[in-house]
Amino acid sequence: MNIILLGPPGAGKGTQSGLLVEHRGMKQLSTGDMLRAAVKAETEVGLKAKAIMERGELVSDAIVSALIDDELAALDESTGAIFDGYPRTEAQAVALDALLAKHGRKLQHVIELDVDEDALVERITGRFTCANCGEGYHDTFKQPAKEGVCDKCGSTDFKRRKDDNEETVRTRMAEYRAKTAPILPYYEKSGLVTRIDGMAEIDDVTEAIEKVLNG
Ligand code: ADP
Ligand code: ADP
Ligand code: ZN
Repeated sequence: MNIILLGPPGAGKGTQSGLLVEHRGMKQLSTGDMLRAAVKAETEVGLKAKAIMERGELVSDAIVSALIDDELAALDESTGAIFDGYPRTEAQAVALDALLAKHGRKLQHVIELDVDEDALVERITGRFTCANCGEGYHDTFKQPAKEGVCDKCGSTDFKRRKDDNEETVRTRMAEYRAKTAPILPYYEKSGLVTRIDGMAEIDDVTEAIEKVLNG
């Protein structure tokens, strides 16, 4: 199964992708994570993307589609893909169609996480992750069971994203509204889109997604 999780920054795409990976053994393909890894490793792509990401603008379609192409090429054909944060523009949606065909895959669902914009700033500014395993947390909504210790791997090292500040979030939301939301009709035409209430509790959102995937 191949699915897209669509929603503005902070909607819960990463959180829900992580749970789907755990429950279903699917592979999360997050262009944001790939780009952050490239920035950290100071690759050519990373050097191009760094300043753009810090401003909260979108990296070029060609760069992110090439990253997805490489990941799909390396992915076992029996493993389903969760596209998290990709596609973000109509050009990327068109590119993804070609990439899916190239790698012998078919898209089953586009899940739109519907959220209230005011809540997103709180979600984003309270977000942090385990520096060791990447597990996502929130100051208010998802604290580790034991303060300062990762539930998943026991690490005591956490980090926050540089672009998770209010000003950058506003730019990221504007980018979503202007460039990403308009791709929904592209998928609605093929009847693939289900809208889910992303304001619900994390577990309830997961349950709603499972329901869609189970048909
Ligand atoms: P995205 O990948 O869409 O940017 P995340 O999954 O990283 O979003 O979620 C953003 C922040 O909000 C994280 O700190 C996460 O723990 C928290 N979060 C995710 N889903 C929910 C939810 N349904 N209710 C409350 N907080 C949530
Ligand atoms: P969020 O979890 O808040 O939705 P991401 O981690 O997906 O954010 O993305 C972080 C940044 O990486 C974006 O603001 C953008 O600069 C860049 N980025 C990630 N995915 C894409 C994409 N598909 N197209 C263009 N830029 C992207
Ligand atoms: Zn961890």
